[in-house]
Amino acid sequence: MKYQISITKTLTPKQKPTDESALGFGKIFTDHMFLMEYDKQNGWHNGRIVPLGPIPTHPASTVFHYGAEIFEGLKAYRAVDGTIRLFRAEENVKRLNASAERLCLPEIDEEGCLDAIKILVELEKDWVPHNQGTSLYIRPFMYGNDEFLGVHAVDHAVFAIICSPVGAYYKEGLKPVKITIESEDVRAVRGGTGYAKCGGNYAASLRAGERAEKKGFSQVLWLDGVERKYIEEVGAMNVMFKIKGKIVTPKLTGSILPGITRKSCLELLKDWGYEVEERLLSVDELFEAAKNGDLEEAWGTGTAAVVSPIGQLTYQDKDYIVSGGQIGELSQKLYDNLTGIQWGIVKEEKGWSKVICNG
Ligand SMILES: *Cc1c(COP(=O)(O)O)cnc(C)c1O
Repeated sequence: MKYQISITKTLTPKQKPTDESALGFGKIFTDHMFLMEYDKQNGWHNGRIVPLGPIPTHPASTVFHYGAEIFEGLKAYRAVDGTIRLFRAEENVKRLNASAERLCLPEIDEEGCLDAIKILVELEKDWVPHNQGTSLYIRPFMYGNDEFLGVHAVDHAVFAIICSPVGAYYKEGLKPVKITIESEDVRAVRGGTGYAKCGGNYAASLRAGERAEKKGFSQVLWLDGVERKYIEEVGAMNVMFKIKGKIVTPKLTGSILPGITRKSCLELLKDWGYEVEERLLSVDELFEAAKNGDLEEAWGTGTAAVVSPIGQLTYQDKDYIVSGGQIGELSQKLYDNLTGIQWGIVKEEKGWSKVICNG
């Protein structure tokens, strides 16, 4: 094992939630968390699993002042054969390091990080809920922790992992969402931190999200930050369109988060024989396609929802209905296949779904 990991179990285990239909997202946390520290002299050290609780932090800590924070989001699933599994977790670890590099945070050993995730999940396996569509959400995160107000790359950092049992994203099957295209705020610019999964990106996106919610939309679709012309992504999801039988998705220009669900969908779509175009897609082209009936389906992709069909797009007060406001056939097929792989229902040779332990 790359990192030594000590385990201190809680003496006061919490009651596990009994009503899995009321779990929601990120409200309940398991008994333990993983912690590890970094400094220039010792590298990453003191890996440990301890009872979940507050992390005492100096008020001058870098994270409070200069936003040095990155995170990941993945899930452990209770598969139909009773095993506990992870989906492409190694991709999350790689992306964590890509985010670290962008924010001048220390990179972490990939194997060591995966081990930490697996050991924590195995310890908390009774917290992985049972109902269909539920899972244990795993949130690894890292932050700069120098006790110093100077602006500089960090010498001290903390890496932590917490886990939260989460409910089914769709309680009554897939449901199409209404999306508004944001023309005022931007989420990220090329050369910025858009491709990194960092808290700062979220802070900058909240205002538009709030405005959209007030008007009855579930998410914002972001345009590029330079020309405000090209489609980027939807809230915390990547976005894909089926236009005249082809799949079109914004290419990774540096301002878009490279989603693992996006990557997985594109691989499946290619396997199924679809022509896939990763390219710039302007909002004008999209609405031209919507007007003349060429836009057949639109959906978002991300770990939380897996696939989220889009039933309506609104831009500058004009509404465009997609797929008659219904769930598109391909959106449904993608959702069924990906969740089927995650829950161990659909057989796959790709090795995406990995057994961690017996449930
Ligand atoms: C996490 C995230 C996604 C989706 O990535 P997945 O790896 O598929 O979960 C998309 N966009 C943003 C901004 C994100 O933070």
